[in-house]
Amino acid sequence: MEKSNSAPKRRAPASACAECACGDVALEIAVPAQWAWHDHSPTSRRAHGAAYATYVGTWKSRVRFVRGEECLTRYEEPETGAVRSFCSRCGTPILYERKRAPKNVNIPRALFASGVGREPRYHVAIDEMRDWAYLGDKLKPLKGFAGVVWDGGRKRGSG
Ligand SMILES: [Zn+2]
Repeated sequence: MEKSNSAPKRRAPASACAECACGDVALEIAVPAQWAWHDHSPTSRRAHGAAYATYVGTWKSRVRFVRGEECLTRYEEPETGAVRSFCSRCGTPILYERKRAPKNVNIPRALFASGVGREPRYHVAIDEMRDWAYLGDKLKPLKGFAGVVWDGGRKRGSG
């Protein structure tokens, strides 16, 4: 084998892996993803149990289940026809498929351990953002509670 004088070319990974909390479900997508976005809508807020959901959108043709596709439970939203699939063992949201985009699928950004080739730059339903969501306020250690920080008791929003 001949030695090359040039440094090995660093290639970006061709895929990114996502996994649920219990590990039963794992999938991979081709990167870069199509787009990434923050969803402040009430249905996504409730489905995630979080202030808002951040999704990675991609084409269904670029998603491959590594394991556990049979572990998914589906919930179809009666008003929109959107389908949310989650791990039937641990409840982690896995897929969000919207009726108006049948070739696309959205996967929570938080499930990916690595980059997906897209920054979440877009916000949907920003007017629904909760006034208790953390927006990067300055924080300081809470005395007597190691690892806990707080905003010092500043009043903002309705709580
Ligand atoms: Zn799971």
